[in-house]
Amino acid sequence: MEINKILIGSHVGMNGPSYFVGSVKDALKCNETCFMFYTGAPQNSIRTPIEKCKIEEGLKLMEENNIDIKNCIVHAPYLINLGNIDEYKNQLGRDLLISELRRTSAFHVDKIVLHPGLHVHNGEEVALKKIVESLDYVFSVDNTNVMILIETMAGKGTEVGKTFEEVAYILNNSKYPSRLGVCLDTCHINDAGYDVSNVDKVLDEFDKVIGLNKLKAIHLNDSKNARGSHKDRHENIGFGTIGFDTLNAWVKHEALRNVPKILETPYINDKMPYKEEIEMLKEGKFNPSLKDLF
Ligand code: FE
Ligand code: FE
Ligand code: ZN
Repeated sequence: MEINKILIGSHVGMNGPSYFVGSVKDALKCNETCFMFYTGAPQNSIRTPIEKCKIEEGLKLMEENNIDIKNCIVHAPYLINLGNIDEYKNQLGRDLLISELRRTSAFHVDKIVLHPGLHVHNGEEVALKKIVESLDYVFSVDNTNVMILIETMAGKGTEVGKTFEEVAYILNNSKYPSRLGVCLDTCHINDAGYDVSNVDKVLDEFDKVIGLNKLKAIHLNDSKNARGSHKDRHENIGFGTIGFDTLNAWVKHEALRNVPKILETPYINDKMPYKEEIEMLKEGKFNPSLKDLF
């Protein structure tokens, strides 16, 4: 495998005054071949108008540096809960998602990652039905062709999407299945109970339950917690319970060659660790003193 062609990157910020140009510059600084960004703060719905985001300038910089926008993804804000049975709050989530789809498409990005939702105290089944219904509504109103990638979750609190079956339920019951894909987060599925050390076995199960053709992005994170802990706390590559060799195997797996792998590992001493983490993964060699570099 040609290491410089591996599709690997990280989440990057998009903040004023440079906005999208700043995101692209961060990705370039870290030698990334793809990246993920939020079109504003993930915790709220305050958004800089698209005209101020320096999109064309960012796209030009990407072109000059051979990063294909088709390999980049947006992450939807966390506060959308399409599993909410409260009509008013659910509608807020739907509206926010519709506006994010429009924003995503304005960046020429064709995929947005979404946390499926929480069931609060209503049980998985109720939430999953509500999510399907909400997504159907969103797609019926939306006129972009942005694909929504349902993220596999750790099962922290009342999160749904903690098994491949729950994710498959959403895709299989949607009226718009071609608009849906999946983002697999290695930390999340470890925390949800999957044995990520056997990549073939996990991908085999994914293929049986969901279909490997639906796997459009990987969130490549180590985990601070044991398998099955339902915690969702990311760790730097090689420093957690998943370990370097396993994450390296995910990066190099032939079946994932065309799937962007995005690091969402924690900053070290307030600094982006992605350049160094990506370098370790490209070379296939763990540096146990990585954290001392920051
Ligand atoms: Fe996420
Ligand atoms: Fe993630
Ligand atoms: Zn997470």
